[in-house]
Parts: sequence; structure tokens; C-alpha cells
Amino acid sequence: MPRAVALSLLLAVGALSLVIAAQPAGLPPGPPLRLEQLDDQLYVLHGGCMCGNTLFYVAEGGVVLVDTKVAGQGLAILDQLRTVTDEPVAMIINTHTHFDHTGSNAELGYVERIVAHENARASLMKTTCAPVTNCGAFKGENERFLPNVTFRDSQSLRVGADRIDVHYFGPGHTDGDTWIVFPDIRIAMGGDLFGAKGVPYVDTENGGTALGYDETIARAVAGLEGRVDTVISGHVEAYPWDDLVRYAEFHRHLEDAVLAGMEAGRTPADVAAEYAPPDELADFSFIEPFASNFVQLMFDEAQAAR
Ligand SMILES: [Zn+2]
Repeated sequence: MPRAVALSLLLAVGALSLVIAAQPAGLPPGPPLRLEQLDDQLYVLHGGCMCGNTLFYVAEGGVVLVDTKVAGQGLAILDQLRTVTDEPVAMIINTHTHFDHTGSNAELGYVERIVAHENARASLMKTTCAPVTNCGAFKGENERFLPNVTFRDSQSLRVGADRIDVHYFGPGHTDGDTWIVFPDIRIAMGGDLFGAKGVPYVDTENGGTALGYDETIARAVAGLEGRVDTVISGHVEAYPWDDLVRYAEFHRHLEDAVLAGMEAGRTPADVAAEYAPPDELADFSFIEPFASNFVQLMFDEAQAAR
């Protein structure tokens, strides 16, 4: 693995392991901000914190801004946006509830539409929650920065003449992960369902599932096939379409191996220690702390389903 790729993956995994620790306070600074242009209309704002990618889709009549990193990043996000356009932010889309994707919702000024899956909004509206869920950031005055446009399966949104499609293909990372498609430019993003090329973190407090993960990714592939050339990951780079297809293969291979190990009487720790992706999927990482958590959770879910 090239050094830069290994580093970015470590940073992504580092951010996610902090999610596991559920201690957003005292995060390390993370990699520097980096604005990447993927298309005339679409930019990815990487880094700035241990947090997810932010997207700027510059539509006619306003900007669609996807994910708002951690709290305290609002001014930095707007500074970067102003280097590419003077258009106002017409819409925020939060891919899911987590603090490193919804943190600066309240720092971007008034935005008419804030879009999320209905389950993500429900998570953000919880009375109490683990810090990772970020419900505490939307109390009192800040209730007005909760998502105010929700959907269940699919919806087409318009900003000026531009169309943005949002889809829900089922639970995995949480039970409210939104896939966003910019159909005119054939680019998609699935938040942390495809957070990085590797075994993911599963948030069971917010409806995530290890056992159902492969089916959800397979549904995403089936639902997006033919419409998308590039898929932006939640925390790392933008990848060619084929990498999402291969991510589905990785999940299928991993699930087959875990369930076969369970049938053979192996322990979750054994299975986690022994598993490696096949050579053709060697660019997908299977590393701690997610590897053991994912396998253990899959065992628990498979046994509970019996
Ligand atoms: Zn997340």
C-alpha cells in the first residue's frame, strides 16, 4: 500500500476509533484541510479535523453542502466554500447522525433545508445519547438546526435546475445512512456506510448491523448501477465505481468466512485473528479496532437470529 494511502487510512480509522471511544471532546487536530475539485460543480473538503469529508455541490441558485464535520469547523468550511463560489448554502445534507458529520450544522448561518434520513433525525432528537450520536448539540435554541426535510426510501430534491437524489438502502453503519447521487455528474456518496476501504465501525446504539451490512451494500450497488462513475467515501478518497462493487464483494467474503468459522466452532477472536481478504481484495483493510468488533457483533446477531 502506498505510504500516502496507508496514512489516510490510518487517519480515517483513527477518527473512527475515537467514535468507538465515543469521546468527541479532546480530539486530536487531524490532517490539514484540503479542497479537492472532482468536477466543475463538485468539491470535496478533506480533513481540518478528525472527521468526515464535506462536499460542496455548486448548483444554479445555491450550494448543496454535504456533512458538516465536528463542532467548531463552520467558519473554516465557509472560508473554503468562498474560495470557489459566492452562492449561498441552499441545502445541507447530513449523511447520518454522528458528531463528525453533523457537528457544525449550527455554524453555517440560516439554511432553508437540512436533509437527512428520518432515522438520523430521530437519533439527533433523542433526549439523551452517547456523544457519538450528537443529540446534545441540537437542544434548545439549536433545535432549529435539526434536519427539517426527511425521507424514508428515496427522494429527488431540486436546487435551481439541478437534481440531487437521496436514497436509503438499509442499515449498516447506522439505520439512517443516506446515499446521495448527483445524477448530472454521475458522482455518489454513501457517508460512513462506505467510510473507507476496510472493515467498518457499526453503531448498534443507532441501529447499525454487521450481519445485514453486506446486503445493504449489495442493494446500494444494485440501486446505483449505471448511474454513477465515482463514489466518495465518508472519510478518505473518492474511488471509481468498481471499488463499491468490490466493497460489496469484500463484505460478502467476510460474512461467509465469519459464519463458516462460527459453524466450525471457532471463537470470534479466532476468526478475527485468522481472517484476511483474498488477494483480489487486498486493498480492503481488515484491521483493529474494527475487525474484532465487527466479527463479535456478527456472531451475536447470527446467534440471536437462531
Ligand atoms: Zn459515522
